[in-house]
Amino acid sequence: MTTPPGNSATLMARRARVLSPTYQLFYEQPLQIVRAEGVWMYDERGRRYLDAYNNVPVVGHCHPQVVEALARQARTLNTHTRYLAEQPLQLAEELLATLPPELGSVIFTCTGSEANDLAVRISKGVTGGSGFIVTEFAYHGVTDAISGMSPEDGGPLGPGVYTVPAPLAAEGAAAFGAHVGRCIERMQADGVRLAAMLVDSIFSSDGVIAEPRGFLADAVQKVHEAGGLFIADEVQPGFGRLGDAMWGFQRHGIVPDLVTMGKPMGNGHPVAAVAGRAAVFAEFAKGRRYFNTYGGNSVSCAAALAVLEVIRNENLLENARRSGQYLRGGLQKLAQRQPAIREVRGAGLFIGVELGTNSASGLGGAAETRRIVNSMCRRGVLVGSTGRNANVLKIRSPLTLEPQHADLLLDALDQTLETRA
Ligand code: PMP
Repeated sequence: MTTPPGNSATLMARRARVLSPTYQLFYEQPLQIVRAEGVWMYDERGRRYLDAYNNVPVVGHCHPQVVEALARQARTLNTHTRYLAEQPLQLAEELLATLPPELGSVIFTCTGSEANDLAVRISKGVTGGSGFIVTEFAYHGVTDAISGMSPEDGGPLGPGVYTVPAPLAAEGAAAFGAHVGRCIERMQADGVRLAAMLVDSIFSSDGVIAEPRGFLADAVQKVHEAGGLFIADEVQPGFGRLGDAMWGFQRHGIVPDLVTMGKPMGNGHPVAAVAGRAAVFAEFAKGRRYFNTYGGNSVSCAAALAVLEVIRNENLLENARRSGQYLRGGLQKLAQRQPAIREVRGAGLFIGVELGTNSASGLGGAAETRRIVNSMCRRGVLVGSTGRNANVLKIRSPLTLEPQHADLLLDALDQTLETRA
C-alpha cells in the first residue's frame, strides 16, 4: 500500500522549511494533486479538475502507451548516446520527418533551457556575433545565459541582449519586422554583431500572439540579411498544439536555422532537443564535441517516440484544430455578452483571452485575471495567466480535449465573470 498523502497544511509547512523560497505555488488555495489521467487531475480528496493549463501532457496525463514505453525501456536498458542504439536514431529520424528538409540533424538535451542554451552557443560560434534579439516579455529558460534572455523573469538582461516589443494588436503584428530592423540598427550602432534572434513562435509569455500568419517572415529575413541566425523556440507551441502543423514556425512560412523543443516531447518525462541546418551543425562540430549524459538516453527516447506515435495514431493535430476552434468560438460568443473579455487569441489548443475591467467584480485586467484563475480552480477548471500586464488567461489543455470538456470551461468562465467571488 502507498503512504496516504499528508494534509495540505502540513505539506505547505514542510515545503516552507525545506524548499527554497524561490519556488511558487499555483492558486490562493494551493492544490495537492495526487494523480491524473487524460484531461483530468485529481486532488487528495478525489475531487477532479479539468486540466486546461498544462501544456506538457500533450497526449493526456499518464497516457498508457507512453507509460508502457517508459517502463518497458527502463526494464531493458537505459544508457547514453555513446553506444550504437536504435532509439536515438529512430527518434531523430521521426523528428526530422516532421521538420522542413533544410533541418538536417538533431542534438538531444534534457530540458528546454539546455536546448536554448546550446542553440545560443551554436549561433555565437557559427556567426562570430554576440548580439541577441528577444521579445520584451519573453521566457526561454533558466541557465545563466538564457535567464539573461528571459525578461519575464524580472532579472537583468545579459550582455548583448536587445529586446523588441511583442507584436501586439495595437500597432499590428506586421510592425514586428520593422521593430527587428530598428533593433539591428541599434545593435550595429553599438558595435555589436548579431548572432541570433530567439523567438517563441506563439509568443506565450508576451500574451499569446498567433495572427496574422506569416508576420515573422519579414523579421527573419532582416535577421538573415544582418548575418544572424533565427532560433525558433518551440518548447511551448511545438508538437501539434497549434493544430495546423507540428511546429509553430510553420504557420509563418519560414525555415529556422535552429529549432528548440522540449516540454511536451516526453509528455512529462524530461527530454528536449535542438534541430538544426546541416551546415550550422557542421560548423559548430568543427573542433568541438558535445556530450550530454542524459540527453538522448534510451528511456527518454522511448517516451518521446511513444508521444509521436500517439499524436499520429490519435490524430491529435486534427483534434487540436477542431477542439481549439470550438473552444475559441465559444469564447468569442462569450465575449459578445461579457465586455470584460477584450480579445480571444491563439491557434489550435493554445489560447489567450485578454481581459479588461469587469463591472461585476469591479476589478481591472490583472486583478480580474487573477480572480478568475482562482475562482475557476474552485469550480474545478485549471487555467493560468500570462502577458506583460498579467491580464491574459492562458488556456493550453492536453490535445485530447473534447468539446464537452470545452463546454465545462466555458460554463465555469461565464459563471465566474458574472460573480464577485
Ligand atoms: N522556452 C519556452 C518558450 C518555455 O516556455 C520554457 C519553459 N517554460 C523553456 C523554454 C524552458 O524549458 P525548461 O523549463 O524545460 O528548461
